[in-house]
Amino acid sequence: MALYNTPYDAANTAVRAFLTKIGEYYLERSFNTSSGLAKKDWLKIRDEIFEGCCAYCGVSGVKLQMDHLIMFNRQEFGLHHPGNIAPACSPCNKRTKNNNRKYNSWENHLSIICERNKSKEQFFDRWKRIKQHIDEGDFAYPKLTEGESKAIKIIASNLYERIKTEFESSIELYQELDKEFIK
Ligand SMILES: [Zn+2]
Repeated sequence: MALYNTPYDAANTAVRAFLTKIGEYYLERSFNTSSGLAKKDWLKIRDEIFEGCCAYCGVSGVKLQMDHLIMFNRQEFGLHHPGNIAPACSPCNKRTKNNNRKYNSWENHLSIICERNKSKEQFFDRWKRIKQHIDEGDFAYPKLTEGESKAIKIIASNLYERIKTEFESSIELYQELDKEFIK
């Protein structure tokens, strides 16, 4: 839990809640991985589909975290959906930014890690495993039409702006009231 919360944090949380609900809409059930069926899905993804290895560097025997392949943010608008989840070790779970100051896509991220670890020959196998998981695995990610992807992007961006604006107007309201009280 962050100790210092900004209007941007509030707006980002709202966007993630929206992407979670839309993911569940396509999944047709809850995907709260802290318990129940969704937790089993996560364990299956981690231990069976990816055989207990980091999807990016292949390390095993370390704590693996949930990575959203199509990023769960305002850059890529990835849904919280099992087809978008892969296990990643702690260092690989941090996306670096490219020259345009944008986060790298999962494919670029994988390529950078394979190059850095001098395991370029592993790139294609790892890429194929992730790609199959997204496209045709037991939990295939919804095949969104261009219209659906655009709608998600527009609504999420709008939600972000509205939350930020609401927050700022609450601060202004407080300042105005405070001035009234002083009089
Ligand atoms: Zn890793």
